[in-house]
Amino acid sequence: MNKKSFCIANWKMNKSLNESTDFLCQLADKDLSVSQSKIVICPPIIFLDAMMSHNKNHDISFGSQDVSMFKKGSYTGEISIDMLENMGCKWVIIGHSERRQMFFETDDTIGKKMQLLQNSSLNPILCIGESLDEKINGLTSEILEKQINSVFSSIDFKTSKDILIAYEPIWAIGTGVAASINIIKENMKLIKKIINNIDTNNCNIYLLYGGSVNKNNASEIFNLNNVNGFLIGSASLDIESFYNIYKQI
Ligand code: PEP
Repeated sequence: MNKKSFCIANWKMNKSLNESTDFLCQLADKDLSVSQSKIVICPPIIFLDAMMSHNKNHDISFGSQDVSMFKKGSYTGEISIDMLENMGCKWVIIGHSERRQMFFETDDTIGKKMQLLQNSSLNPILCIGESLDEKINGLTSEILEKQINSVFSSIDFKTSKDILIAYEPIWAIGTGVAASINIIKENMKLIKKIINNIDTNNCNIYLLYGGSVNKNNASEIFNLNNVNGFLIGSASLDIESFYNIYKQI
């Protein structure tokens, strides 16, 4: 299918240095001409530099799983946007539900990260999505609207860049059960509508789906109108399953 697409691996806190570089070597040896999709690997941050130095294949890009909301200074343990730029990193995931839930990140902190990213060379991958409780209580549209508007309201879109929004229903992440095609279709339509009300100026916004994507459901989800690719957790850890998904988009 001829639409711009992204195949993004979020390895979270998995893989050793050797396992990470092995994966990269195996991926670089595959026929990457089978898809036009952009591959972005987001390894544990500590291996990012080694992986980028190791990489000889220009079809593979790299991203960070998070970034600091501060520009620089006394913030122990934090990694800044400038540091990621120094390394040659191109992408940054922000607002992943695991960071929202386990590290108490709010729309406000995610908005600050987005603002800094807007003035950098990095491209954001903003994760949004409702919890099971919110879904059951009919709050999905309200939550998605809040997550998008609070992050987008304070930024100017003058710098031209690709911004990815990954719709990741929390109840589908890491469960092995993706959202149904109908739910993805409806919620992608809703997200598109919310974005259409914002003046995104020179930026291209693309929507991804994330939540138990695997080789068996990738094609069907990707064929949906507003889906420009995937943010993949578990299935991105295994080279064959990641490549299999890549081939389908
Ligand atoms: C994720 O955590 O972003 C994710 C999509 O995980 P999984 O593919 O394992 O559901």
